[in-house]
Amino acid sequence: MKGKGARTPRMRVVTIPVGPFVMNCTLLRDEETGKGIVLDPGDEVETVARAVEREKIEVVALVGTHGHLDHVGRAAELKEAFGAPFLFHREDRWLLEHLGEQGRMFGLGALREASVDRWLEQGDRVEFGSISLDVIHAPGHSPGSICLLGEGRLFAGDVLFQGSVGRVDLWGGDGATLVRSIKERLFPVGDAVVVHPGHGPQTTIGEERRSNPFVGEGARGLGL
Ligand SMILES: [Zn+2]
Ligand SMILES: [Zn+2]
Repeated sequence: MKGKGARTPRMRVVTIPVGPFVMNCTLLRDEETGKGIVLDPGDEVETVARAVEREKIEVVALVGTHGHLDHVGRAAELKEAFGAPFLFHREDRWLLEHLGEQGRMFGLGALREASVDRWLEQGDRVEFGSISLDVIHAPGHSPGSICLLGEGRLFAGDVLFQGSVGRVDLWGGDGATLVRSIKERLFPVGDAVVVHPGHGPQTTIGEERRSNPFVGEGARGLGL
């Protein structure tokens, strides 16, 4: 029986706010097979490892939405803990290579760069068990920012937030590119899609398309 309304979700989403930037590390689990991924292994190795155990997830990959320390600061440790490959977009490689500097800048000590096992590009898929998520390259907050789309959900990294958008004053940020990414690559996925941002509460594409003060209807842009 695959009646639409009665269907139980095939994918479990567990959000764990971690670290001083309260970044939403997200665990995704295919409920059929128990296979899953860790999205944005940014901080709190022990907390994330415990949650993976509690949720009975067989981690088959770690994915970084972009190269800022709050999202990939602990990718190296968590990759070792789970023995799973790390997936990332090539255009943020330079940020990953400067993770140590990012850590020192924010007073977070030495962060180790994780080696990348697979480079993700626009149109690629991230698969775990029976779940397949589409990779959307959405530059602007950083050159190699990606979002993952599937099962009626968009995992947006720092591209789009509830009532806001990613900052563009960090390394490699660009306002016009960010607005174009959101309008041309995120809004077309459909109003009903639930958005899980890298920080703060979830929202929907429709809500942001209508009322986001930076990119919604009637918005005046980023004021740049
Ligand atoms: Zn960021
Ligand atoms: Zn962030």
